[in-house]
Amino acid sequence: MAVRNITILGSTGSVGISTLDVVARHPDRYQVIALTANKSTGKMLEQCRIFRPLYAVMLDPTSAENLRTEIGKDGIKTEVLCGIESLEKVASLPEVDIVMAAIVGAAGIRPTFAAALTGKHVLLANKETLVMAGHIFMNVVKENHATLLPIDSEHNAIFQSLPREFTGDHTKTGVRRILLTASGGPFRQTSLADMEHVTPEQACNHPNWVMGQKISVDSATMMNKGLELIEAHWLFDAAPEQIQVVIHPQSIIHSMVEYIDGSVLAQLGNPDMRTPIAHALAYPERIESGVAPLDIFKVAKLDFEAPDFSKFPCLRLAYKALASGGSAPAILNAANEVAVEAFLKSRIPFTTIPILIEKVMEAIEPKDIFTLEDVLIVDNLARKAAYGWINSEGIDS
Ligand code: NAD
Ligand code: MG
Repeated sequence: MAVRNITILGSTGSVGISTLDVVARHPDRYQVIALTANKSTGKMLEQCRIFRPLYAVMLDPTSAENLRTEIGKDGIKTEVLCGIESLEKVASLPEVDIVMAAIVGAAGIRPTFAAALTGKHVLLANKETLVMAGHIFMNVVKENHATLLPIDSEHNAIFQSLPREFTGDHTKTGVRRILLTASGGPFRQTSLADMEHVTPEQACNHPNWVMGQKISVDSATMMNKGLELIEAHWLFDAAPEQIQVVIHPQSIIHSMVEYIDGSVLAQLGNPDMRTPIAHALAYPERIESGVAPLDIFKVAKLDFEAPDFSKFPCLRLAYKALASGGSAPAILNAANEVAVEAFLKSRIPFTTIPILIEKVMEAIEPKDIFTLEDVLIVDNLARKAAYGWINSEGIDS
């Protein structure tokens, strides 16, 4: 079997660490070419010691300098680079076959595009790329013969439940609907009044998944499901009305596909990202992931509920952005990133997150977008509007 070369963007994060865990189980299959991070020098040094990549990229120059010094002391041959151009470089190296796109937020969009532009197997965890630039990114994938494999557990489950010959034309494959499952997050049973006072620590305490801070807050507001709705729309060419969000608190079914003959296919498993990661790494083969087998008797019971849009306005805002089209999802995404960051710094209460996003969506008229540059301009504009709003009105008294 030919060894496949891999770059992991965001290797020190939650998805990055899970990816290296799976890769380490298959040294005969995968060779790590490059690892990247923002500032976590300690974790990166540890990963370089184990995986000996050709390149380690730190976005932050000071962190790169520190890493270079430490790596030098160890006598490791890894070349240390910094900056966004280096992230793009390691995502598009000719010897790289697979790129795991696991940087969090809009920061991941340029290197993810670089991977697609050079026709890689793109393992997409960075859902923000599709939210911000859905049709542009899907065209880049198609034009450059890249292979796009979803890592988000729900989208990976949908991918697995669709027919192998799926081409995006639902009329040919008999797909009626996608059932996008959501755990409901830590505040599923919290009253709206109590949500006013939740702390960043409570918001990051997800009942079923251990994840980075940003996606944890997104899960608590249910913006994560909103972003995933937009992600599913682009990945599977599904109209918004073909995607039904289903609250499923146990997170055992990771999503379902309903067919016109009444069949509903689901993918089940323990909530552990190593399953979708292993699936996408080896696709179309199957490999060991380290995930414990599902004990169906212990699970015993699976519950389903309809989503509550009044308690989780972020979900409504995502539907609205998708319906508006053009730059509206990029505006939603940028405002959300600023709002989540402000909440994590205790500058705004939890319940102000959707208020701020809606203000920014109202303030900026959505426009058609054609290029990545158009998207980045909109992203910047929406961030400025969001910071402006926080500075004038949003500070928690
Ligand atoms: P995380 O915060 O744990 O890790 C983020 C990684 O990106 C780190 O390596 C960090 O150093 C790097 N990074 C952060 N800011 C950066 C910047 N400005 N430039 C370059 N690198 C930067 O995040 P995560 O939870 O692993 O999530 C990563 C992505 O995967 C997100 O888009 C998230 O929505 C998606 N995702 C995560 C999970 C999960 O279980 N964690 C599940 C589904 C999808
Ligand atoms: Mg998900």
